[in-house]
Amino acid sequence: MKYLTRELKEYYMQDFNKNVLTCNIDYWRIDNGLKDILININNNPDVQTLYSKNYDSCKCESCRRNGGESYLIVSISRKYEEKMCKIVKQFKKLFKNGGFMFEEYCDFFNGGGSKISNMECNKNPQYFNISSFKFQLVTNDEKRQRFFWQFLNNNLSK
Ligand SMILES: [Zn+2]
Repeated sequence: MKYLTRELKEYYMQDFNKNVLTCNIDYWRIDNGLKDILININNNPDVQTLYSKNYDSCKCESCRRNGGESYLIVSISRKYEEKMCKIVKQFKKLFKNGGFMFEEYCDFFNGGGSKISNMECNKNPQYFNISSFKFQLVTNDEKRQRFFWQFLNNNLSK
């Protein structure tokens, strides 16, 4: 397991503050409603957000019919592992139609596409070379979606 170290936290935070928060390219910028949540979570020195999506950011036919997908991918420090186990257990209890995934080395680097941002996830093939956890919920039920993000905000920020 490749944990979040102090050096890596610094690297990701520099990218987050300099490139992610300021990005205004439609496809890559932080989805509406998530900015404050990501800032809160990233204020935790033991957790780092890597990638996120809010359910109402896609208006395609499939998302309208089957439900939009929200997800948050984070990495954690070694110290945080025990806490993470508790959070995951609670998440599975509360979100029976939600998904959880652990990936040793997340390999969805996307350096292609027509519009590339300054963000490290677009430039550095090693960006996702860290153990990561994905929380996911597919539904257009606004109340459950709000609960999902509230849960992640409350739990991962401390
Ligand atoms: Zn869609």
